[in-house]
Amino acid sequence: MCFFLLREQRRKTTAAEKGKIIVYRIKSVIAKRFPELFNLFNELEDSRKRAGYSIAEIVTGALFMHLFKEESRNAYTNDRRDAIFAKNYYRHFKLRLPHPDTIDGVMRVLKPELLEGLRAELVGSLFEQKVLRSSRFLGKYYFVAVDATGMHTFDHKHCDQCLTRTSKHGVTTWFHYVLEAKLITSSGLAISLASEFIENQPGRDYEKQDCEQKAFVRLAAKIKKYFPRLSICILADGLYPNKTIFNICRDNNWRFIITLKDGNLKTFHQEVELLRGIQKEQEVYRADKTSHTKLKYKYLNDIEYEEYNYSWVSCDEHKTRLSDKMEETQRFVFITDIEQASDIVVNTADGGRLRWKIENEGFNTQKNLGYELEHKFSRVSNIAMQNYYHLLQIAHMINQFVEKSSDLLELLNEHSKQTIKALWKELVMYLKSIPYSQEQLLIFLSG
Ligand SMILES: [Zn+2]
Repeated sequence: MCFFLLREQRRKTTAAEKGKIIVYRIKSVIAKRFPELFNLFNELEDSRKRAGYSIAEIVTGALFMHLFKEESRNAYTNDRRDAIFAKNYYRHFKLRLPHPDTIDGVMRVLKPELLEGLRAELVGSLFEQKVLRSSRFLGKYYFVAVDATGMHTFDHKHCDQCLTRTSKHGVTTWFHYVLEAKLITSSGLAISLASEFIENQPGRDYEKQDCEQKAFVRLAAKIKKYFPRLSICILADGLYPNKTIFNICRDNNWRFIITLKDGNLKTFHQEVELLRGIQKEQEVYRADKTSHTKLKYKYLNDIEYEEYNYSWVSCDEHKTRLSDKMEETQRFVFITDIEQASDIVVNTADGGRLRWKIENEGFNTQKNLGYELEHKFSRVSNIAMQNYYHLLQIAHMINQFVEKSSDLLELLNEHSKQTIKALWKELVMYLKSIPYSQEQLLIFLSG
C-alpha cells in the first residue's frame, strides 16, 4: 500500500530536468574518467598561422557535435545560432563554440594520427583506473572484437583512397570501410581501441585493392603500439581463421576465439571429425530457466593445424518459444588457442559469442541511434572524415559511461518508451532554452 502511494505521488522528471541531468553527467564522466581530455586537445599540433579559436575550442566543438548526437553539421549550425545554446555551452564547458565551417576547416588539415593517438591515451587511462577489470576473461584477458563496417558510399570518385566496385549491371560505386578493434564487455560496453581505414593508396592499381585481411595486419600493429602490455583475447568472425591471423596473435602473445564456419580450415575440420570418431568430446550442460534455453558445450584439445595445436569448441543452444512452443537450435563453433577444460568451456564459448556486440552495441548504435556514422560530416575531405570518425569514437565512449550511470538508468526506467536517442534531444533543448544560473549550479554541485 505504502509503496503504491509512493509510486503514485512521485513526480515525473520534466524535459528540462532530464536535459540538465545529462549535461551534468557528461561533465562528471569527463572529469572523473577522462580528466586530461581538454589538456590533450590543447596540446594538439596546430598548423594554423592565424587562429581566432584555440585548437581545444575547435576540437571540442567537433567532439560535442557527436556527444550531443547532432545528425549533421547543419543541425549543429542551427543549434549554435541559438544565442542561449551558445551561451550555455560556454558556461558549462568554459570554451567558445566555433562555427561548424570553421571547425571543418581545421578537421581537413589536422593529422588524423594525432586524434588517433589521443584516443588511445584516453582509453589507456580507463585501464589505469581499472574500471574494466571485472570484465576480463579468465581474470586476465580483455575481449577485443575485430570487424569491418561501411562508412560512406558515393556514386562518383570521392577521393584517391576510395575503394570501388562495379556491379554486374555495370554500376560503379566508390566507398570507404573501416576495420575496428573494440573492447567488448558482457555488460554491453563497446569501446574502440584502434581503427584502421580500409582504403587504397593513391596511384595504386585498383585491381589490388585494400581489404579487411590486409587491414588487420596494420590494425594489429596499432593495437600493439598503443597497448603493448594489454592482455587481449581476439574475437572474430568466420573470415578470420587463417594462419596469418593465428601467427599475429601468437607473436603478440594474444589469445583468440574465432568463429569457425563450414568450409573454413578444411584440414582442421578433418582432424576434428577424425578425433570425434575415436574419442568422445567432453560435454558440459547449462540451462537458463528465464529464457527457456538449454545449452550444450563440447570441446576437443590438441588439434594440429599448420604445426601448432588448437582447441575446438561448440555450443548448441536449444530454445523453446513460449508463445507457440516452437523449438529452435542454433550451433556456434569456434577455434581457440586456449586449452579447454570443463570449467572454462562455457566462458570460452559465451565469450566467442560476445563478438556480436561489435555489430550491435558498436556499429548499429553508431549508425542508427544518433551518431550517424554513415553521414558525410565532410563531403570532400578524406582527412576530415577520418578526424570526425576518431572524435565520434571518443564521444561514443564518453556517452556509454553516461548512459550506464544510475541517474540515466533511472530516467530510462521512469519512461519505458523513452529511448536514449530521444533523451539526448532533451539535452540539446535544455541547452537551448534554460537560462543558466550560477546559483542552480552551486546547488547541484553541493548536492
Ligand atoms: Zn574516397
